Amino acid sequence: MQYVPRWRPWFTSLLDLFYPIICEACGRRIEEDSEFLCMHCQRIQPPTTLHLHRINEFTGHFRGRLQLHTASSLYYYVPGGLVHQLIEKIKYRKRPDLATSLGNYYGNMIADHHSFGQIDLVTSVPLHKSKQIQRGYNQSECFAVAVAESLGIQYRNGILVRHRSQNSLTGMDRFQRMKALQKTYALADPAPISNRHVLLVDDVMTTGATLEACGRLLLEGGASSLSLMTIAMGH
Ligand SMILES: [Zn+2]
Repeated sequence: MQYVPRWRPWFTSLLDLFYPIICEACGRRIEEDSEFLCMHCQRIQPPTTLHLHRINEFTGHFRGRLQLHTASSLYYYVPGGLVHQLIEKIKYRKRPDLATSLGNYYGNMIADHHSFGQIDLVTSVPLHKSKQIQRGYNQSECFAVAVAESLGIQYRNGILVRHRSQNSLTGMDRFQRMKALQKTYALADPAPISNRHVLLVDDVMTTGATLEACGRLLLEGGASSLSLMTIAMGH
């Protein structure tokens, strides 16, 4: 186990106000010119290369379910792994800035890639209003806004809304999940997506049911084309 001196947490958090020098996954000081993961953690958890292929493992997950232009995820998600820790920090430890850093990082990584140059508008999967108030931010939106900025594409919120908090979908089959989620989300503002290629962003893709429900709403609501993006996806 890594030795962490007792003075380290307050000392580094003080420095961190000015310079992001601590690895967000392992807490080691970053010596390299790297934004949030040290070289060691980057080797353990490299970004996916999904963005290099318009048709890939991510789009394959939705084959026959949702018509996609392309889809990509910054990382693969392993329960208990480094990316799990990053997501936990973003969601439960008031770190929207980390979602923004990841969005800038990924946006710059894919900026020159042809598939993502065809997108007109970026939006994100909404949280229920009460949850967003409680958390203070929507982590998917923080990531999406930064991606949109890096790509020079407009971001719009309020296109989709979440009507109610969803109880756990655990134990439901795919059809039951879709039914439950279709009642949970709604298209609130269809005008901006009319005849546009929309990039829909979420934090983590596991079963894909949420992205499928929201993506259907966008396509049925007039989007000409749909692409998906997440911070992390299950392998
Ligand atoms: Zn590290």
